[in-house]
Amino acid sequence: MSHVKSQTILVTGGAGFLGSHLCVRLLGLGHRVVCLDDFSTGSRDNIEALLSHPGFSLLEHDVTLPLADEPAEVDLIYNLACPASPLHYQRDPVRTTRTIVLGALNMLELARRRRARILQASTSEVYGDPEVHPQTENYCGHVNPIGIRACYDEGKRCAESIFVDYHRQYGVQIKIVRIFNTYGPRMQVGDGRVVSNFIVQALRGEPLSVFGSGEQTRSFCHVSDLVDAMIRMMNTEAGFIGPVNIGNPVEVTMIELAARVLRLSGSGSGMVYLPALADDPARRQPDISLAMQRLGWQPLVGLDEGIADTVAWFRSVLEPVSAGVPESPYRATPASGIHAWN
Ligand code: NAD
Ligand code: UDP
Repeated sequence: MSHVKSQTILVTGGAGFLGSHLCVRLLGLGHRVVCLDDFSTGSRDNIEALLSHPGFSLLEHDVTLPLADEPAEVDLIYNLACPASPLHYQRDPVRTTRTIVLGALNMLELARRRRARILQASTSEVYGDPEVHPQTENYCGHVNPIGIRACYDEGKRCAESIFVDYHRQYGVQIKIVRIFNTYGPRMQVGDGRVVSNFIVQALRGEPLSVFGSGEQTRSFCHVSDLVDAMIRMMNTEAGFIGPVNIGNPVEVTMIELAARVLRLSGSGSGMVYLPALADDPARRQPDISLAMQRLGWQPLVGLDEGIADTVAWFRSVLEPVSAGVPESPYRATPASGIHAWN
């Protein structure tokens, strides 16, 4: 158990991929966690084991609506509620924009009433298809405002603007992190993002679906590093609001990623080339100088190590009897003392 002061922390989107890892880490640090989620893309399985933890409570709620029963006490809010996979956020684009924008307004109002500090999970998508490489926080981006990704990209840009205005206009303590592609255990089998798609296909013996030429790049960060950075950002001094890029700067093409997944999963299923997606960014790589300097943070999990961890987890989901539950070095730190909740 940590020596830090115990706080009450609201995590919106707490039943999702990133949110559930964050809930586990915060409970491990001795905080009380209120998980708010509507289970639209998250899963009850992700938090099932947390329900018996005395410090954990669940609020089933849609962030587009104001909170009727708001927690009596809230010190910190991590605002993650939002579909993150292109497959999910493009399914109902109007709802995606509503979730991001109304969710930001509702959570900022809560933060204002309760004098809570609030962190926004923004995204590298605010840079769109970037003309600056690698991307630094002062780059204003290159987004197609009427494209199929705009509901998410422009929604997240609008949320950043609302956050900064609540800070300037009402003095709300805000933090903004721009998260680059993050992967790891607890992604859903049907999530649709590239790492989970490739691993599930490799384990099922299906060819890996490479969209377009496969020469487009991304930089992938393991979820344990991401959670570490988010908590560090929340704990920076009040005057520092960001935005700060969080990601692993190792940049790979989708062909390279597919080759690594095939090697690390021992699969011989190969690749199949499918039509390119509209508005798919060609390159993406974070400049993390600011995070290194202000958060004293840098990613620790290499891509091969992280993929192997994620392969082991998907194997346990797809072949639960033969594979068992894998031992992951990342899902609980020795200091957390809550291995039962991983
Ligand atoms: P996820 O889809 O696994 O999690 C999102 C969670 O939000 C789910 O539990 C979902 O049920 C919940 N949610 C969605 N709409 C809601 C609503 N209206 N009310 C209440 N809950 C709602 O996605 P994730 O990868 O865990 O992403 C979490 C956050 O991080 C998102 O805000 C996303 O934009 C941001 N982000 C993630 C990545 C990444 O690579 N994972 C990259 C950039 C930004
Ligand atoms: N991608 C792919 N095959 C898939 C899923 C995605 O080649 O099955 C590509 C996609 O075209 C994009 C990259 O992988 O260039 C990352 O896609 P993802 O949906 O994971 O995230 P985002 O586009 O939001 O960065």
